[in-house]
Amino acid sequence: MKIVKEGDKRQVVCPVCGLSLATYALRDIDFSDQSGTVKNVLAAVCDTCQKVVSIPKQSTAKVRAEYNKVKTSVDVRLPAHYLDILTLAAQKIDPTLTESFNKPLVLYYLHALSRGRYPACDLSQLLESDLAKARASKRFSLKLNEKSLFEVKALMTAQGLKSNTDVFKSVILKINEDLVQGKVPEHLPELQNFAAAFG
Ligand SMILES: [Zn+2]
Repeated sequence: MKIVKEGDKRQVVCPVCGLSLATYALRDIDFSDQSGTVKNVLAAVCDTCQKVVSIPKQSTAKVRAEYNKVKTSVDVRLPAHYLDILTLAAQKIDPTLTESFNKPLVLYYLHALSRGRYPACDLSQLLESDLAKARASKRFSLKLNEKSLFEVKALMTAQGLKSNTDVFKSVILKINEDLVQGKVPEHLPELQNFAAAFG
């Protein structure tokens, strides 16, 4: 792939001016479904009419990355001790981690369980345990991108779970089983590496 830079020139066929010269410059680009805009990406701008004529591959990648970042809010209600489990798990991974690591930890586990990286055979059983049952008096909200939403659905289907709430509950109970209760958690080194980005 040819990487272009700001100020580079190329010949283009402009829909307005026909054969014309264009200069690569930073422009705001709308998503094709009009759901948002990416600011300041390199685009070929017609020298004559100043319209964006084309977007180089490197900018397409950036637009796609931004598009995939679009987040959907998911709110679930959880018993208070589920949040304590996340705090205890984070402390085990690295005692300097704060509560802000709780959500990334849940999303990491969601990813690993839905992709089969971590075995996920007993998730619905965990929901039957005594520990699972209590008043759901705390709110737990997450911003999920397309990929995480897909993983929630995949795990729901694969494990016969009934709702988003069941998915997050069972993921947190799995974190309890693996990390909080486990004496030598198998995934600890990997999670410590992951956590290093959140120090
Ligand atoms: Zn033009």
